[in-house]
Amino acid sequence: MGYTSVVCVKQVPDTKRITGNAMREDGTVNRAALPAIFNPEDRNALEAALRVRDEHGGTVTVVTMGLPSACDVLREALERGADRCILITDRRAAASDTLATSYILSCAVGKLKPDLVFCGRQAIDGDTAQVGPQLAEKLGFTLMTYMEELALEGREARVTRNIGNGRETALARLPALFTVMESANEMRPAAMRKIMKFKKARAPMEIANSVKTALGVSATPEALAAETSRRTEELAARGLLIDQWNLDDIGARLEWCGGAGSPTRVNRVQSVVLAGGDYREFEPTQASIGQLVAELVQDHTIG
Ligand SMILES: Cc1cc2nc3c(=O)[nH]c(=O)nc-3n(C[C@H](O)[C@H](O)[C@H](O)COP(=O)(O)OP(=O)(O)OC[C@H]3O[C@@H](n4cnc5c(N)ncnc54)[C@H](O)[C@@H]3O)c2cc1C
Repeated sequence: MGYTSVVCVKQVPDTKRITGNAMREDGTVNRAALPAIFNPEDRNALEAALRVRDEHGGTVTVVTMGLPSACDVLREALERGADRCILITDRRAAASDTLATSYILSCAVGKLKPDLVFCGRQAIDGDTAQVGPQLAEKLGFTLMTYMEELALEGREARVTRNIGNGRETALARLPALFTVMESANEMRPAAMRKIMKFKKARAPMEIANSVKTALGVSATPEALAAETSRRTEELAARGLLIDQWNLDDIGARLEWCGGAGSPTRVNRVQSVVLAGGDYREFEPTQASIGQLVAELVQDHTIG
């Protein structure tokens, strides 16, 4: 019978390649100047779900919320073995903070009625690590963060969590959501046969955009619609249509989406550069540690 797994993946700018024009003066990332990649820990989340399917059977569905260009990560997921991919895209979702993002994802993931949901621990652009836990809360699923190992037996999961200074083993009742660490596994390579097949997979919005380009500005709306529907049917028949859902499809309440559903206000964005002078050594004694803690509390680093 197996387990129904959903993996949430995000397309992110490759923040390891920050160069000259990649940061704007206001401190925000100029996404156009950086290559867009599969968020690294989402690859580990996908691999964890694929391993569950390898061992127990079931299905792996990959979901992303973003622009149609995010289909690149969905194609990569299909190439690596996902059974189905869903793009959640809607102009009304623009300007969503983590609360609105996790709400929208919860509406989509809830529709799929999964046993297991896998997220990366953290996205390398937003960096908050909030979406997984918020999504678990909204779905009412058991939350297991920092997952490195997973063993399933019936409706129980045994999870090894990396808690920074050690590891702990915890038991979780399904349905459960796991946020997966980079150290959990290594993503399997994509099979050449799948790469050749799924590089042609497209979501409806991508098909419509390519038809517009192919037929040019003089094409009538009827001609555009007819060609779009022909190409869509052809891809669907070959199993190459990426599902596309908007906020109506997932029954989302609009006041909880996009800017309207986002209470976060960014007051200031700052680049923090740790200078060499910040490095100090403390003796491993009670008095020395006490002094360190007092200093950290005083400058509001902790406490
Ligand atoms: C005020 C404000 C306005 C914003 N406006 C915009 C905007 O207009 N456009 C924009 O693109 N971003 C916007 N953002 C950023 C947006 O909030 C984050 O991209 C998003 O909520 C994810 O947060 P994160 O990157 O910290 O992910 P994390 O919480 O670090 O991600 C953890 C995991 O959650 C999952 N996940 C995260 N995001 C997605 C997703 N989109 N789809 C599927 N899975 C996901 C992945 O598994 C990921 O590894 C805005 C943020 C703020 C605070």
